[in-house]
Amino acid sequence: MPDFTLTTDADGVATLTWDVAGKSMNVMSAEGFALLDALIGQALCDPAVKGIILTSGKKDFSGGMDLNIIARMKDGGARGIFDAVMRIHGILRRIERAGMDPRTLKGGKPIVAALPGSALGIGLELPLACHRIIAADNPKARIGLPEITVGIFPGAGGTTRLVRRLGALAAAPFLLEGRLSDPRAALAAGLIDEVVAPKALLSRARDWVLAATDADLVKPWDTGGYRMPGGTPYHPAGVMTFVGASAMVLGKTMGVYPAAKALLSAVYEGALVPFDTALRIEARWFTNVLLNPSSGAMIRSLFINRQALEKGALRPAQPDQAVRRLGVIGAGMMGAGIAHVAAAAGITVVLIDTTQEAAERGRAHSQNLPDTGIRRGTVTPDHKADVPGRITATTDHAALSGCDLVIEAVFEDPGVKAEVTARVGAAVSPDCILATNTSTLPIGGLAQASQLPEQFIGIHFFSPVDRMMLVEIIRGKATGERAVARALDFVRQIGKTPILVNDARFFYANRCIIPYINEGIRMVTGGVRPALIENAAKLAGMPLGPLQLVDETSIDLGVKIARATRAAMGDACADGAVDQVLLDMADEGRLGRKAQAGFYAYDAAGRRRGLWPELATRYPVTDPQPDLTEVQHRLLFAQVLEAVRALQDGVLTDIRQGDVGAILGWGFAPWSGGPFSWLDIIGAARAVEICDALAARHGPRFAAPDLLRDLAATGDSFYRRFAPAVDAA
Ligand code: NAD
Repeated sequence: MPDFTLTTDADGVATLTWDVAGKSMNVMSAEGFALLDALIGQALCDPAVKGIILTSGKKDFSGGMDLNIIARMKDGGARGIFDAVMRIHGILRRIERAGMDPRTLKGGKPIVAALPGSALGIGLELPLACHRIIAADNPKARIGLPEITVGIFPGAGGTTRLVRRLGALAAAPFLLEGRLSDPRAALAAGLIDEVVAPKALLSRARDWVLAATDADLVKPWDTGGYRMPGGTPYHPAGVMTFVGASAMVLGKTMGVYPAAKALLSAVYEGALVPFDTALRIEARWFTNVLLNPSSGAMIRSLFINRQALEKGALRPAQPDQAVRRLGVIGAGMMGAGIAHVAAAAGITVVLIDTTQEAAERGRAHSQNLPDTGIRRGTVTPDHKADVPGRITATTDHAALSGCDLVIEAVFEDPGVKAEVTARVGAAVSPDCILATNTSTLPIGGLAQASQLPEQFIGIHFFSPVDRMMLVEIIRGKATGERAVARALDFVRQIGKTPILVNDARFFYANRCIIPYINEGIRMVTGGVRPALIENAAKLAGMPLGPLQLVDETSIDLGVKIARATRAAMGDACADGAVDQVLLDMADEGRLGRKAQAGFYAYDAAGRRRGLWPELATRYPVTDPQPDLTEVQHRLLFAQVLEAVRALQDGVLTDIRQGDVGAILGWGFAPWSGGPFSWLDIIGAARAVEICDALAARHGPRFAAPDLLRDLAATGDSFYRRFAPAVDAA
């Protein structure tokens, strides 16, 4: 089956239907483009054809470009990429001009895009080249240009067309943030032209084609008097937009995302020249971005590998393990969040706490959340009313009967958890899987309280549960394959991304986050200016500095972890100075954001108001201060060396999961593609040099792990050695 098929009816309306065989969603490939071009050419030349409807044979229009192809385009170097992009511009421009006389702008054939559902990336760039965009009124559909979220920008004319259609200011959220809209919002924003009842989609498109006049086909930018909405960069109104946009983008991205800067340049420079020249400029900047190692690493981690994990790459061959009835024990912050996301996915939930009041409180949490879900598109409005209705709040363990999966999220105390495990085991049927949401305790130890350790597993959510996309699944030594499959099926049901790691204290994510926070605090005690620490982290692409992060997660949690680590590891834990800072802060009630006092000062409304001035008195800053790069290296290597050790120790069995997990789990510099991608970008040899220098100045925690030294000695990289199949990105 070809990707596109063309049929023409008795009235001369041709329908070009996109329906890629064997895929649930249309994605554009090189072959798809070639066929589209040929069929458009055929229809434009055919005198029997009056106009064309471009639509989809699937419930959605398109999920975008096949990013594997983008990754492969790089094989041709700069010239190869540029030429390939210009060929795409040529195809879309032919659609836009539709055979019209270039001088009189008359005689073209109308081409309308009829979108039954989602239209993303090239799935919107293509319609933007058509003469009208009509979408079915489908609230589940997502329309937009999400390229920036995987480290590139719309490079098939989407950038140039959207800016000329809406103006730079109005186009900014769609281009710079990759904002997606449902059809009605897309219409209100001017992204599309019309929304109609789903049943009327094709008939309305047909009517439009038959009624279209020459003038309906001409894009404003192809007419003589075109003025860009909001003004070009040298227009008095445009100046404000462009100057503001540069500052805003730099403020948000800290200059570490090459795609954001390149996009802005393409928009600015493109606005000063005629349309076709603007397309060439867009193609040049797109080429520039594709050649930056950051974009390849981002595509690899945030798109290719993330999607593979979501589609079940880790799943053992087991019959369907979908969860219909979920038990959650502990209706606190995490338990309530887990109950909510499960109920939002249509799963029946039993939420248990020690008192009815606490259980009800957890259920009530769900009532306040759906609006966020609706805004983000994870909960449809018709689901909203049902979400709390699917949660039964109770203290009665008998209600767990019939559960396929029970997740405990009670206090982080091995004794309490053991008691809960035994009690749940007695209340459920023998095939139920029991999971713990512990953030630090080894699964093997907790499994001892279970009669069926092969049915015991770790399912570690991140806070806030409804917003954090990663779920870390921890396989204990005794955990069986069915438990793994059920955990993975559950994560898939709730629409999150799983990684699967082996058991060890702190698993993977927390193992890497804690050294980051500790390094930040250690620098404070060593006289590094706190503002330098925080800014260095952000300038390296971390979403939060280490001091802000510990304020957010709470300082008493830090104290608890420090105490538990000390109890378990004794002298092996070398964070005494750091622990003392946490203890001192906790003793004074500076517990972080929740206490409106921590490393930062807060106002009465809970807003951060700069670093706590007293810090400078407690920990006098030294003179001179270390340079920015040194501080950044300490903060980044504290994390990435732990990731390498997790791989060496076998906690992590796959670097791809390590990279995806780091970005989604704790926001590790997304521009880099994750810790392993980052080490590959700087190169193992350079990384070892930096480690040696840091270890000499700051201690053995920075010593290069053997694996890194070996890669350096052999001139190898993580992705070449451990994941050759996806190195193309
Ligand atoms: P929390 O204190 O907000 O909630 C714990 C809840 O468990 C309370 O409502 C408590 O009444 C209930 N509970 C205690 N003993 C119980 C019992 N025997 N039976 C039924 N309910 C009982 O704690 P939290 O922050 O939601 O954390 C829960 C678990 O999740 C912990 O293991 C924690 O380490 C883990 N975790 C927390 C985070 C986080 O950021 N807070 C992140 C990941 C994992």
